[in-house]
Amino acid sequence: MANLKAEPAQLAQAKRCGAKTRGARLGRPCRAPAMPNGKCRMHGGRAGGPFGARNGAYRHGRYTREAKEVSAFFREMAHDGEAMVARVMHKHGLKPPRAIRRRRHVKQAIEAAAKPKETVK
Ligand SMILES: [Zn+2]
Repeated sequence: MANLKAEPAQLAQAKRCGAKTRGARLGRPCRAPAMPNGKCRMHGGRAGGPFGARNGAYRHGRYTREAKEVSAFFREMAHDGEAMVARVMHKHGLKPPRAIRRRRHVKQAIEAAAKPKETVK
């Protein structure tokens, strides 16, 4: 309580966090000054360290957001290609290769192709 008065004038004017607290203040709202996001430094901060090479755990970038997006894109292209192979083979009365036969997107592509007069995505 007394330390609220000890806050710098700038902070004393700030909105309060208001998060539901645990521990000593059980259930009562947090009274620490809020940041622009409306919560205090303890209740509304971004988790984790800096992104990319600035982070000490960074090694080669294999798991960066960008790398993950790239591999997701290639995975999707591969799925589309397998689905196309499955559709075409189905059209010619053939089973898709064993390696891809049981994959969900392949099964869905075959099901979609088997239904007459429905647009295939
Ligand atoms: Zn708080």
